[in-house]
Amino acid sequence: ALSIGIVGLPNVGKSTLFTALTKKGGLAANYPFATIDPNVGIVDVPDDRLQKLADIVHPGRIVPATVEFVDIAGLVKGANEGEGLGNQFLANIRETDAICEVVRYFKDPNVMREVGRVGDFVDPAGDADTIMTELILADIQTLEKQLPKLEKEAKRDHDLMPKLDVAKRLVEWLNEGNRAATLDMTDEERAAAKGLFLLTMKPILYVANVDEDMLGEELEPIDGVVPIPICAKVEAELSELDPEEAAEYLETLGLERPGLEVLAQAAYRLLGLQSFFTAGEMEVKAWTVRIGATAPQAAGVIHSDFERGFIKAEVISYDDYIELGGEQGAKAAGRLRMEGKEYVMADGDVVHFRFNV
Ligand code: GDP
Repeated sequence: ALSIGIVGLPNVGKSTLFTALTKKGGLAANYPFATIDPNVGIVDVPDDRLQKLADIVHPGRIVPATVEFVDIAGLVKGANEGEGLGNQFLANIRETDAICEVVRYFKDPNVMREVGRVGDFVDPAGDADTIMTELILADIQTLEKQLPKLEKEAKRDHDLMPKLDVAKRLVEWLNEGNRAATLDMTDEERAAAKGLFLLTMKPILYVANVDEDMLGEELEPIDGVVPIPICAKVEAELSELDPEEAAEYLETLGLERPGLEVLAQAAYRLLGLQSFFTAGEMEVKAWTVRIGATAPQAAGVIHSDFERGFIKAEVISYDDYIELGGEQGAKAAGRLRMEGKEYVMADGDVVHFRFNV
């Protein structure tokens, strides 16, 4: 499953947000090291199209796509030296597809910013910089560990030369204070770099944990990216309410949808993902594929046998499906297409796969 690691300095609101995301309950403590064990929460990706499909098909259930959020223990200055929670942090974050960094914008004198310092001031850019520095330092270490071995192997196996070259360039780039993802690389180099397991190659999403009264505000970019404003406290409250109460509360805040929905969708966009649907009596279900994925690759998301034995896909565009009242209507109107192995999936395609077992 697609997984996103939630990181940030201690006491920025990670646990609060994570709890709201997963509706697990439990209290986030006002203490810098409250989140020691990584926690995994599966979150639905909201998609209004699912209900529209269900209104036509009347399935037994609706199954949205999901994103896995991993609550990663608080990062502190010096994490790369293996101090405190650092090593565990790095091990957990390595396994995720993307990073969601929570940055503190809310002011609260009762919540410490650092051990022994009260939190009536904020420094979003400085905090983001602290985390980025740790990630970059960790990547330099990762590369320096791999380089000697890589040099030896590349002497024997010349196919490894591009990987070695890019590793060397990356060390230099990182040492200048840059993150790996921003190095100018060819597609081949980028593929090679993927095998180096660098944290700063991962796409990063900034969440600004703001005070309630800042929710509508436009924020300054961090590292060239505009952060997504969310109030973790509000999200925690929303997650406790039933849908009607939640809708009312949102209205009083002047918000269209909960911040968590905005976050899930932003994560999708960041990672270049889209959905396709299967719609049957049993269930209407959203599946996740990369933008640009072919029909067999999409089939493989459902089951690896589907990809191996792929014959063809019966595809109806989402708009056709809705306008023509479903599969029968689309078929009658000649809008059900037979697509082969080369077909590149479009967002919202409603699909039946045909395959050999
Ligand atoms: P973590 O260490 O990053 O996981 O931070 P927590 O989620 O444990 O939050 C630390 C403290 O900040 C807790 O006392 C939370 O109640 C408080 N907190 C979290 N989000 C907000 C917020 O949006 N506004 C305010 N005022 N306090 C918050």
